[in-house]
Amino acid sequence: MADLKFQRPKGMHDLLDQDWEYFQKVFNVVSAIAKLNNFERIETPILEKRELFERGIGENTDIVEKEMYCFKTKGGDDLCLRPEGTAPVVRVYFENGLSELPQPVKLWYFGPFFRHETPQAGRYRQFWQFGFEILGEKDYILDAQVILISLEILKELKIENFVLKINSIGNSCCRGYYKKSLVYYLKKRKKGLCQNCKTRLERNPLRILDCKDEKCKQIVSQAPQILDYLCEECKSHFFKVLDTLEFLEIPFELDPFLVRGIDYYTNTIFEIQDKETGLALISGGRYDSLGKILANKDLPAVGAAGGVERIVEILKEKRIFVPKEKFPKIFVAQIGELGKKWALKICQQLRENKIEVFESLGKDSLKAQLKLADKIKAKYVILIGQKEALEKIAILRDMETGKQKEIKFEKIVKEIKKLI
Ligand code: AMP
Repeated sequence: MADLKFQRPKGMHDLLDQDWEYFQKVFNVVSAIAKLNNFERIETPILEKRELFERGIGENTDIVEKEMYCFKTKGGDDLCLRPEGTAPVVRVYFENGLSELPQPVKLWYFGPFFRHETPQAGRYRQFWQFGFEILGEKDYILDAQVILISLEILKELKIENFVLKINSIGNSCCRGYYKKSLVYYLKKRKKGLCQNCKTRLERNPLRILDCKDEKCKQIVSQAPQILDYLCEECKSHFFKVLDTLEFLEIPFELDPFLVRGIDYYTNTIFEIQDKETGLALISGGRYDSLGKILANKDLPAVGAAGGVERIVEILKEKRIFVPKEKFPKIFVAQIGELGKKWALKICQQLRENKIEVFESLGKDSLKAQLKLADKIKAKYVILIGQKEALEKIAILRDMETGKQKEIKFEKIVKEIKKLI
């Protein structure tokens, strides 16, 4: 083992080739579904102004209080690594005049995000998300559409063991009444709450609802429920969403204590959770107040984001998807100076014809080269030695049968095309 002085930052991962196969699989499914649903691709910068998230996500949330990677640039800008994708998308909507387009505007993204969380299974400090956002319309049917798209992605990936949990957190008005009533209830039971929730009681009482501490859970189970506090408009919106899910025969669990760690949500919120681990695979909801917060403009919108690593872990663990090895593999081996140069040239000709070839041009020993060909399970080896290079004839060896034949250099591409 090398005496390496550096390790990757805690909670972050190196993505090697075998990991990319899985990421690519998720990307392909997500992008195909995005296309079928007429979403347009968007990629926002990894860095944004700190204030975008402070205002958008909310000052008293865990993300803003504890989890953002922020720094001052030499030019004095206050930037941070994006912890989520929705606030940047809303910024883009206003900054790039998307409000002038026919509404709604449908956008999707796929990229890395950063949160300084305590690393544990399924929770990383750099993780990849895909996301879907529908901006500019308030109709309840769009909430159902976003849920449907999220489920479609999991179905296409053949992931089955999940539960859809849904709740409404109303608008700022009815949520305000609810908060008061919840705080009243919790204050009376403050002694029984965990230390964290005692602080949350002052700063962000709704987060107490999804505390994992057993004693807090016990107290919360008897707490007032938000659904009883929704105004007529919010109630009607939510019931129409539930009604649509029933119409579409989508099973769901109504969870009156479901809350999300982000302040911009209004009305419908949902999480699709892995039944085994309880981790959210895809989550989202409506965020009608974010436009007002960021640009002082009304912008009804709804969206969802999925965790790529969490999905990839299921694909790996359950062996739902196993990357296929590409066969048959072709290896070009060489001997001598001229053989080496010709090998490079022949490889290039094959690659120009979109044929994937393996080689080890830096190795002079034929034995070492053939060992490598064996290791990658090459089906054919094209051998170019000093004599072959002079005669412009290569030896083609079928590694399975051991049969060999000679082929003229100018016929190699045609011959290999026939074989694969
Ligand atoms: P959120 O932006 O918090 O709504 O998260 C959207 C999705 O991203 C979640 O449903 C998770 O699948 C995934 N996710 C969120 N935080 C992390 C994390 N720290 N590590 C891995 N995946 C995450």
